[in-house]
Amino acid sequence: MKFIDEYRDADAAQRFARAVRDVTTRPHRLMEICGGQTHSIVKYGIDELLPDEITLIHGPGCPVCVTPIELIDKAVEIAALHDVIFCSFGDMLRVPGSDKDLLTVKASGGDVRMVYSPLDAVRLASENPQKQVVFFAVGFETTAPANAMAVHQAEQRNITNFSILVSHVLVPPAIEAILSSPSNQVQGFLAAGHVCTIMGYDEYGPIAEKYHVPIVVTGFEPVDILHGIYLCVKQLEEGRAEVENQYIRSVRREGNQRAQHFMREAFQIVDQKWRGIGHIPRSGLGLRERYAAFDAELRFGLAEHVTEEPSECISGLVLQGIKKPHDCPVFGTRCTPERPLGAPMVSTEGACAAYHRYRGNLRNVKTSKLQNVNTSTRQNFKTSKRQTSKFQNIKTSENAMG
Ligand code: SF4
Repeated sequence: MKFIDEYRDADAAQRFARAVRDVTTRPHRLMEICGGQTHSIVKYGIDELLPDEITLIHGPGCPVCVTPIELIDKAVEIAALHDVIFCSFGDMLRVPGSDKDLLTVKASGGDVRMVYSPLDAVRLASENPQKQVVFFAVGFETTAPANAMAVHQAEQRNITNFSILVSHVLVPPAIEAILSSPSNQVQGFLAAGHVCTIMGYDEYGPIAEKYHVPIVVTGFEPVDILHGIYLCVKQLEEGRAEVENQYIRSVRREGNQRAQHFMREAFQIVDQKWRGIGHIPRSGLGLRERYAAFDAELRFGLAEHVTEEPSECISGLVLQGIKKPHDCPVFGTRCTPERPLGAPMVSTEGACAAYHRYRGNLRNVKTSKLQNVNTSTRQNFKTSKRQTSKFQNIKTSENAMG
């Protein structure tokens, strides 16, 4: 398939892995922002192809994982109302709130439906005028234009029984929060290609300059990620800190301006709480005053509750790249995809789910890299035999998954 198979090609992957090894002379710590990239890295063993000098740190780019627990509780409260149809993407249904998740509400008789687009929810609202239809509008800049379009359509069609429960987060403020933290270890970023497809990448220039970090806009296939890593490492080795675009088949500097227009018309930038991380100034989107009638929080007048995360869950540290999933003492025991304690074990973009799915309960040999980055006793590179076998399996495993 064009634009898929060629980016899972074993030879191309090996070439980029070799290029990374050839250009690397000292330790570098890179963060991939997006949970989709994390899944590719873990699934294809990309981290195991890299020289030990390169440490990949998984970032907070899983929108499901960073949706505040208080908002999950509000979703649960709304979904339990008898005159409500609550619509959501599938990932959100099993994310634990403080007491229960949306799937539990559904099992208890709540009308909770999985949809594939916010426009499906608008259609449901027009077909069920006696019901309140609420869409759980979660995501990064990638999903915001579609949610803006849904509100716009509902207004245009005078559909007054539709509203959205909003938890949108923005990538650049999260990068700044990571870089300005005293415990920051990240020296370079792989920016999320799909976010930049919408937003372009001009926003990243001032960040790269201010913090002197390379930022490489990167795609999601194994060859994309290895190419992005190569570009990022090359910049670090050469002392450069620029914004580069690896994902040129999708991303333009200016992004999708029509999508941005819809987004800005419906949403304004607000302070946002990130689950497990805390408040980040100007890192979220909220509906503008003009669309207040479509704001589910206002429509249902829900009280604010401050809720604590389960004390065992270290998802905040995982989302900031300070710990890896295998460092969590309850990973794979008290926390599994079937019985998740935290959101990163639920979402298809969550780091804990990725490790559980592709690495089981094996403790990752590279987990210690974060703590031991200056250790001189490590071997330089993985054996070529192991690298080859990983990538020979790429097409096979994809085909098996259908
Ligand atoms: S394994 Fe479970 S409990 Fe541990 S950090 Fe991940 S989601 Fe939280």
